[in-house]
Amino acid sequence: MTKAVLMDRDGVVTEDLGYVHKIKDFNLVQNAVEGLKLLKGFRLIFITNQSGIGRGYFKFEDFLDYNSRVVEELKKHGIKIEKTYVCPHAPEDNCGCRKPKTKMIKDAERDFKIDLSKSFVIGDKKIDVDMGHNSGCKSILVLTGNGMKEKENANADYIAKDLIDAAKWILKHGNQ
Ligand SMILES: [Mg+2]
Ligand SMILES: [Zn+2]
Repeated sequence: MTKAVLMDRDGVVTEDLGYVHKIKDFNLVQNAVEGLKLLKGFRLIFITNQSGIGRGYFKFEDFLDYNSRVVEELKKHGIKIEKTYVCPHAPEDNCGCRKPKTKMIKDAERDFKIDLSKSFVIGDKKIDVDMGHNSGCKSILVLTGNGMKEKENANADYIAKDLIDAAKWILKHGNQ
């Protein structure tokens, strides 16, 4: 069985400017690359809500272009993102995939034969933490992106300063 780190993208790996989708706005979060490099032995997967598509702020193609740019940049640093799972819906669509619902993480579990009980979710919002707990993962809230605003309400297993801090905690708790 595979262990995975299932990550939110915006505010965790890339700067979250709010509905970010333009390549010119692409910026890595500080210590993101360094943190991800530590996570050897884990499949790395993105799980992202992109309601800007459903709200009509940008197109699915814009999302794909931007996301490819992110994945390519990480690849240059030797970091492989296996797959990006995306919910393109607006909240009022009441879809089955929007975090904190678990469809996307369950799809990843099936696609990569992941053992969720040995896997971790990292996000900068309560919805990320909740999705992890709703699917049997340990959940980490990072204080980058929206993390500072969300930390009071998010019931995370660990609150990490950044992805280096998160990765170190995962390596310490990854074999339990
Ligand atoms: Mg986020
Ligand atoms: Zn959805």
